[in-house]
Amino acid sequence: MSDFEGIRALVTGGASGIGRATAELLAERGAQVAVLDLDPSSVDKPLLAYRADVTDDASVREAVAAAVADLDGLDVLVNNAGIGAQGTVEDNSDDDWHRVYDVNVVGMVRTARACLPHLRASAHAAIVNTCSIAATAGLPQRALYSATKGAVYSLTLAMAADHVREGIRVNCVNPGTVDTPWVGRLLDAAPDPGAERAALEARQPTGRLVGAGEVAGAIAYLASPLSGATTGTSLAVDGGMQGL
Ligand code: NAD
Repeated sequence: MSDFEGIRALVTGGASGIGRATAELLAERGAQVAVLDLDPSSVDKPLLAYRADVTDDASVREAVAAAVADLDGLDVLVNNAGIGAQGTVEDNSDDDWHRVYDVNVVGMVRTARACLPHLRASAHAAIVNTCSIAATAGLPQRALYSATKGAVYSLTLAMAADHVREGIRVNCVNPGTVDTPWVGRLLDAAPDPGAERAALEARQPTGRLVGAGEVAGAIAYLASPLSGATTGTSLAVDGGMQGL
Protein backbone atom coordinates (compact mmCIF):
# COMPACT_ATOMS: atom_id res chain seq x y z
CA MET A 1 0.00 0.00 0.00
CA SER A 2 1.21 3.46 -0.81
CA ASP A 3 1.96 5.64 2.15
CA PHE A 4 -0.08 8.62 3.18
CA GLU A 5 2.73 11.16 3.45
CA GLY A 6 1.24 14.63 2.90
CA ILE A 7 -2.36 13.36 3.15
CA ARG A 8 -4.68 15.15 5.55
CA ALA A 9 -7.59 13.04 6.81
CA LEU A 10 -10.67 13.51 8.99
CA VAL A 11 -12.29 10.45 10.61
CA THR A 12 -15.72 10.77 12.25
CA GLY A 13 -16.45 8.39 15.11
CA GLY A 14 -12.68 8.07 15.30
CA ALA A 15 -12.46 7.61 19.07
CA SER A 16 -13.55 3.96 19.05
CA GLY A 17 -13.74 0.75 17.05
CA ILE A 18 -13.45 0.95 13.26
CA GLY A 19 -12.89 4.72 13.25
CA ARG A 20 -10.11 4.50 15.84
CA ALA A 21 -8.37 1.68 13.95
CA THR A 22 -8.64 3.69 10.73
CA ALA A 23 -7.29 6.90 12.25
CA GLU A 24 -4.35 5.00 13.76
CA LEU A 25 -3.59 3.12 10.51
CA LEU A 26 -3.64 6.30 8.39
CA ALA A 27 -1.39 8.05 10.94
CA GLU A 28 1.04 5.09 11.02
CA ARG A 29 1.22 5.35 7.23
CA GLY A 30 2.17 9.01 7.38
CA ALA A 31 -1.13 10.92 7.21
CA GLN A 32 -2.02 13.81 9.46
CA VAL A 33 -5.28 12.70 11.02
CA ALA A 34 -8.06 14.57 12.79
CA VAL A 35 -10.69 12.66 14.75
CA LEU A 36 -14.19 14.07 15.15
CA ASP A 37 -16.22 12.36 17.87
CA LEU A 38 -18.90 12.89 20.50
CA ASP A 39 -16.29 11.95 23.09
CA PRO A 40 -12.71 12.34 21.84
CA SER A 41 -11.21 12.33 25.37
CA SER A 42 -9.38 9.02 24.77
CA VAL A 43 -7.72 10.22 21.55
CA ASP A 44 -3.95 10.70 21.86
CA LYS A 45 -1.19 12.25 19.76
CA PRO A 46 -0.32 12.15 16.95
CA LEU A 47 -4.08 12.15 16.27
CA LEU A 48 -5.80 15.52 16.55
CA ALA A 49 -9.14 15.43 18.37
CA TYR A 50 -12.28 17.54 17.94
CA ARG A 51 -15.54 17.19 19.82
CA ALA A 52 -18.67 17.29 17.65
CA ASP A 53 -22.08 15.70 17.39
CA VAL A 54 -22.88 14.75 13.79
CA THR A 55 -26.57 15.45 14.50
CA ASP A 56 -25.73 19.11 15.18
CA ASP A 57 -24.88 20.99 12.00
CA ALA A 58 -23.21 23.92 13.78
CA SER A 59 -20.96 21.66 15.83
CA VAL A 60 -19.94 19.73 12.70
CA ARG A 61 -19.14 22.92 10.79
CA GLU A 62 -17.12 24.31 13.71
CA ALA A 63 -15.14 21.09 14.22
CA VAL A 64 -14.44 20.66 10.49
CA ALA A 65 -13.31 24.28 10.21
CA ALA A 66 -10.97 23.87 13.20
CA ALA A 67 -9.58 20.56 11.88
CA VAL A 68 -9.03 21.92 8.36
CA ALA A 69 -7.26 24.97 9.79
CA ASP A 70 -4.97 22.77 11.91
CA LEU A 71 -4.32 20.30 9.06
CA ASP A 72 -3.94 23.15 6.55
CA GLY A 73 -6.42 21.51 4.16
CA LEU A 74 -8.20 18.20 3.69
CA ASP A 75 -7.74 15.25 1.32
CA VAL A 76 -9.70 12.41 2.90
CA LEU A 77 -13.00 12.19 4.78
CA VAL A 78 -13.84 8.91 6.50
CA ASN A 79 -17.55 9.22 7.30
CA ASN A 80 -17.82 6.55 9.97
CA ALA A 81 -19.79 7.74 13.03
CA GLY A 82 -22.86 5.58 13.48
CA ILE A 83 -25.11 3.92 16.04
CA GLY A 84 -27.03 0.65 16.10
CA ALA A 85 -30.67 -0.27 16.46
CA GLN A 86 -32.33 -3.62 16.97
CA GLY A 87 -35.82 -4.85 16.28
CA THR A 88 -38.52 -5.19 13.66
CA VAL A 89 -40.62 -2.28 12.33
CA GLU A 90 -43.05 -2.97 15.19
CA ASP A 91 -40.37 -2.51 17.82
CA ASN A 92 -39.01 0.92 16.86
CA SER A 93 -40.98 4.16 17.30
CA ASP A 94 -41.01 7.11 14.89
CA ASP A 95 -38.66 8.86 17.31
CA ASP A 96 -36.25 5.91 17.09
CA TRP A 97 -36.33 6.12 13.27
CA HIS A 98 -35.66 9.86 13.25
CA ARG A 99 -32.89 9.62 15.87
CA VAL A 100 -30.93 6.78 14.23
CA TYR A 101 -31.42 8.11 10.67
CA ASP A 102 -30.21 11.51 11.88
CA VAL A 103 -26.90 10.02 13.08
CA ASN A 104 -26.28 7.33 10.46
CA VAL A 105 -27.42 9.14 7.31
CA VAL A 106 -27.88 12.88 7.83
CA GLY A 107 -24.74 12.91 10.00
CA MET A 108 -22.73 11.75 7.00
CA VAL A 109 -24.45 14.34 4.79
CA ARG A 110 -23.70 17.18 7.23
CA THR A 111 -20.05 16.17 7.51
CA ALA A 112 -19.64 15.78 3.75
CA ARG A 113 -21.26 19.19 3.16
CA ALA A 114 -18.79 20.83 5.55
CA CYS A 115 -15.81 19.00 3.98
CA LEU A 116 -16.57 19.23 0.24
CA PRO A 117 -15.32 22.80 -0.29
CA HIS A 118 -11.96 21.76 1.18
CA LEU A 119 -11.81 18.42 -0.69
CA ARG A 120 -12.25 20.28 -3.99
CA ALA A 121 -8.89 21.94 -3.35
CA SER A 122 -7.13 18.57 -2.92
CA ALA A 123 -5.28 16.65 -5.64
CA HIS A 124 -6.18 13.30 -3.96
CA ALA A 125 -9.69 13.81 -2.66
CA ALA A 126 -11.56 10.77 -1.37
CA ILE A 127 -14.57 10.11 0.82
CA VAL A 128 -15.09 6.68 2.36
CA ASN A 129 -18.42 5.99 4.06
CA THR A 130 -18.78 3.17 6.58
CA CYS A 131 -21.82 1.27 5.38
CA SER A 132 -22.63 -2.35 6.40
CA ILE A 133 -23.59 -5.68 4.93
CA ALA A 134 -26.93 -4.86 6.62
CA ALA A 135 -27.56 -2.59 3.61
CA THR A 136 -28.10 -5.58 1.34
CA ALA A 137 -28.14 -8.76 3.46
CA GLY A 138 -31.69 -8.72 4.83
CA LEU A 139 -30.67 -9.33 8.46
CA PRO A 140 -33.42 -10.21 10.97
CA GLN A 141 -34.14 -7.78 13.85
CA ARG A 142 -32.31 -4.94 12.10
CA ALA A 143 -35.04 -3.14 10.08
CA LEU A 144 -34.16 0.40 11.14
CA TYR A 145 -30.39 -0.07 11.15
CA SER A 146 -30.47 -1.82 7.76
CA ALA A 147 -32.61 0.95 6.25
CA THR A 148 -30.10 3.59 7.39
CA LYS A 149 -27.22 1.63 5.87
CA GLY A 150 -29.20 1.10 2.65
CA ALA A 151 -29.46 4.88 2.53
CA VAL A 152 -25.70 5.21 3.08
CA TYR A 153 -25.11 2.84 0.17
CA SER A 154 -27.37 4.86 -2.17
CA LEU A 155 -25.86 8.10 -0.90
CA THR A 156 -22.40 6.78 -1.77
CA LEU A 157 -23.44 6.04 -5.38
CA ALA A 158 -25.18 9.40 -5.80
CA MET A 159 -22.29 11.39 -4.31
CA ALA A 160 -19.81 9.52 -6.49
CA ALA A 161 -21.78 10.60 -9.57
CA ASP A 162 -22.10 14.19 -8.35
CA HIS A 163 -18.45 14.72 -7.52
CA VAL A 164 -16.42 12.54 -9.91
CA ARG A 165 -15.82 15.43 -12.31
CA GLU A 166 -14.50 17.51 -9.42
CA GLY A 167 -11.86 14.87 -8.76
CA ILE A 168 -13.51 13.62 -5.57
CA ARG A 169 -13.96 9.85 -5.28
CA VAL A 170 -16.71 8.45 -3.02
CA ASN A 171 -16.81 4.80 -1.98
CA CYS A 172 -18.02 2.75 0.98
CA VAL A 173 -16.99 -0.30 2.97
CA ASN A 174 -19.55 -2.91 3.99
CA PRO A 175 -18.30 -4.60 7.16
CA GLY A 176 -19.82 -7.77 8.58
CA THR A 177 -19.71 -8.31 12.35
CA VAL A 178 -16.65 -6.47 13.60
CA ASP A 179 -15.03 -6.94 16.99
CA THR A 180 -15.46 -3.39 18.34
CA PRO A 181 -16.68 -1.87 21.63
CA TRP A 182 -20.12 -1.59 19.98
CA VAL A 183 -20.36 -5.36 19.51
CA GLY A 184 -18.89 -5.79 23.00
CA ARG A 185 -21.80 -3.75 24.40
CA LEU A 186 -24.31 -5.91 22.48
CA LEU A 187 -22.70 -9.08 23.85
CA ASP A 188 -22.65 -7.71 27.41
CA ALA A 189 -26.40 -7.07 27.16
CA ALA A 190 -27.12 -10.68 26.13
CA PRO A 191 -28.25 -13.20 28.78
CA ASP A 192 -25.17 -15.34 28.01
CA PRO A 193 -22.46 -13.17 26.38
CA GLY A 194 -20.13 -16.15 25.80
CA ALA A 195 -22.81 -18.16 23.99
CA GLU A 196 -23.85 -15.10 22.01
CA ARG A 197 -20.28 -14.48 20.92
CA ALA A 198 -19.90 -18.13 19.90
CA ALA A 199 -23.13 -17.85 17.85
CA LEU A 200 -21.84 -14.73 16.09
CA GLU A 201 -18.52 -16.44 15.33
CA ALA A 202 -20.28 -19.56 14.05
CA ARG A 203 -22.25 -17.35 11.60
CA GLN A 204 -18.94 -16.30 10.01
CA PRO A 205 -17.52 -18.60 7.32
CA THR A 206 -14.10 -17.71 8.74
CA GLY A 207 -15.20 -18.80 12.25
CA ARG A 208 -14.21 -15.46 13.77
CA LEU A 209 -15.37 -11.86 13.90
CA VAL A 210 -13.84 -9.31 11.53
CA GLY A 211 -11.04 -7.24 13.11
CA ALA A 212 -11.43 -3.46 13.22
CA GLY A 213 -7.95 -3.23 11.67
CA GLU A 214 -9.16 -5.30 8.71
CA VAL A 215 -11.93 -2.78 8.02
CA ALA A 216 -9.39 0.02 8.47
CA GLY A 217 -7.22 -1.62 5.80
CA ALA A 218 -10.10 -1.56 3.30
CA ILE A 219 -10.89 2.06 4.15
CA ALA A 220 -7.22 3.00 3.74
CA TYR A 221 -7.17 1.35 0.30
CA LEU A 222 -10.25 3.29 -0.83
CA ALA A 223 -8.74 6.50 0.59
CA SER A 224 -5.42 6.03 -1.17
CA PRO A 225 -4.33 6.80 -4.73
CA LEU A 226 -3.98 3.00 -5.20
CA SER A 227 -7.74 3.02 -5.80
CA GLY A 228 -7.54 6.18 -7.92
CA ALA A 229 -9.87 4.90 -10.66
CA THR A 230 -12.46 3.52 -8.22
CA THR A 231 -15.52 5.54 -7.28
CA GLY A 232 -19.13 4.65 -6.47
CA THR A 233 -18.30 1.16 -5.25
CA SER A 234 -18.69 -0.82 -2.03
CA LEU A 235 -16.08 -3.16 -0.62
CA ALA A 236 -17.33 -6.01 1.59
CA VAL A 237 -15.19 -6.77 4.66
CA ASP A 238 -17.32 -9.51 6.10
CA GLY A 239 -15.33 -12.73 6.42
CA GLY A 240 -17.26 -14.17 3.48
CA MET A 241 -20.76 -13.67 4.95
CA GLN A 242 -22.14 -11.90 1.89
CA GLY A 243 -21.30 -14.82 -0.36
CA LEU A 244 -23.58 -17.18 1.60
P1 NAD B 1 -18.19 2.16 18.12
O1 NAD B 1 -19.41 2.36 18.96
O2 NAD B 1 -17.06 1.35 18.65
O3 NAD B 1 -17.63 3.57 17.63
C1 NAD B 1 -18.50 4.56 17.13
C2 NAD B 1 -17.93 5.93 17.42
O4 NAD B 1 -18.84 6.90 16.85
C3 NAD B 1 -17.82 6.24 18.92
O5 NAD B 1 -16.54 6.77 19.23
C4 NAD B 1 -18.93 7.25 19.17
O6 NAD B 1 -18.61 8.20 20.19
C5 NAD B 1 -19.03 7.94 17.80
N1 NAD B 1 -20.34 8.56 17.61
C6 NAD B 1 -21.56 7.99 17.82
N2 NAD B 1 -22.53 8.89 17.60
C7 NAD B 1 -21.90 10.05 17.26
C8 NAD B 1 -22.38 11.36 16.95
N3 NAD B 1 -23.69 11.66 16.99
N4 NAD B 1 -21.47 12.31 16.63
C9 NAD B 1 -20.14 12.03 16.64
N5 NAD B 1 -19.64 10.81 16.95
C10 NAD B 1 -20.51 9.84 17.27
O7 NAD B 1 -18.77 1.52 16.75
P2 NAD B 1 -18.07 0.72 15.54
O8 NAD B 1 -18.46 -0.70 15.67
O9 NAD B 1 -16.64 1.11 15.39
O10 NAD B 1 -18.93 1.32 14.33
C11 NAD B 1 -18.43 2.36 13.49
C12 NAD B 1 -19.22 2.36 12.20
O11 NAD B 1 -19.13 1.05 11.61
C13 NAD B 1 -20.70 2.65 12.33
O12 NAD B 1 -21.11 3.48 11.25
C14 NAD B 1 -21.36 1.29 12.21
O13 NAD B 1 -22.67 1.37 11.70
C15 NAD B 1 -20.42 0.61 11.24
N6 NAD B 1 -20.46 -0.85 11.29
C16 NAD B 1 -20.09 -1.54 12.42
C17 NAD B 1 -20.14 -2.92 12.42
C18 NAD B 1 -19.76 -3.75 13.64
O14 NAD B 1 -20.04 -4.97 13.63
N7 NAD B 1 -19.13 -3.18 14.64
C19 NAD B 1 -20.56 -3.61 11.27
C20 NAD B 1 -20.91 -2.88 10.13
C21 NAD B 1 -20.86 -1.50 10.15
